[in-house]
Amino acid sequence: MDIRRIGVIGDPVAHSLSPVFQQAAFDATGIPARYERWHTIAAELPERVAGLRTADCFGANVTVPHKVAVAALVDSLSETAQRIGAVNTVINQDGRLHGDNTDLYGFMRSLLTARPGVERDRILIIGAGGAARAVVAAVAEIGVTGITIANRSPERATQMLADLRVDGAAVIPLAEWDLMGAIRDHSVIVNATSIGWNDDQMVLAPELLDAVDPRGLIVDLTYRDTPLLIQAKARGIGILDGLPMLVHQGARSFELWTGLDAPIDIMMAAAERARET
Ligand code: NDP
Repeated sequence: MDIRRIGVIGDPVAHSLSPVFQQAAFDATGIPARYERWHTIAAELPERVAGLRTADCFGANVTVPHKVAVAALVDSLSETAQRIGAVNTVINQDGRLHGDNTDLYGFMRSLLTARPGVERDRILIIGAGGAARAVVAAVAEIGVTGITIANRSPERATQMLADLRVDGAAVIPLAEWDLMGAIRDHSVIVNATSIGWNDDQMVLAPELLDAVDPRGLIVDLTYRDTPLLIQAKARGIGILDGLPMLVHQGARSFELWTGLDAPIDIMMAAAERARET
């Protein structure tokens, strides 16, 4: 059988871990495929997506900043991709392109694994971008006890809740006073902002972490030891980084492309090894 093409579309993609753990999955299941990094600037996106229609291509993953734009370039969208308004997986179905969003599933799986009984928690989500949309949709679907969104631009959070048709969630500004009150009242805190890739920035001031219940959980979607996670761990608070979400979303994508069960343990081990190098 000829080698099939597959890849991740984004800008940048040089540091993406997807090629490593997806290639491990294809190799482990004996599917002849090469998973590549497809660096794509916005002007080249239509041509890149059109190139996914050929028979030798499974489809693609899509990452920052193209998840919204790709939704308009495919032939059909899953219900989840429509609701979130973003596509992270394109499946080539005999030349027709179907867009899906597996971030919701990835976050849900990682949260349910790390926090059994999470439906009893009140969840504070910081951020209102693409990743936050998947997180909010996931916790709404789980049916948690309460949801509050804190964002630098609160109007963006309000719009996100309206788009996702999530009722009963509160919106607060990303201000220390408001956060202090919210932190005392919530047992799971999720950083879904892009703050976390820089060591000199923390989305919550360290003194705010002193107010977090040690039986709580701090989640950072960034897949590294962020200052937030390091400081939370030092206070004995439970932590979860973004690697399990990344691998679970990728495993779901693999299943959509191939129709096979994803070798999740192999993918997780490959991602962990790649993160350490
Ligand atoms: P977006 O650009 O869509 O959203 C960024 C968010 O961060 C917005 O809420 C924005 O606030 C906020 N923000 C950015 N800079 C600042 C700042 N200086 N101060 C306060 N708030 C700020 O990004 P994504 O949602 O796509 O990604 C967010 C994070 O999630 C990234 O770190 C990404 O790597 C990670 N991610 C992880 C995944 C995983 O599988 N683990 C999957 C997808 C994403 P505002 O609305 O006010 O601009």
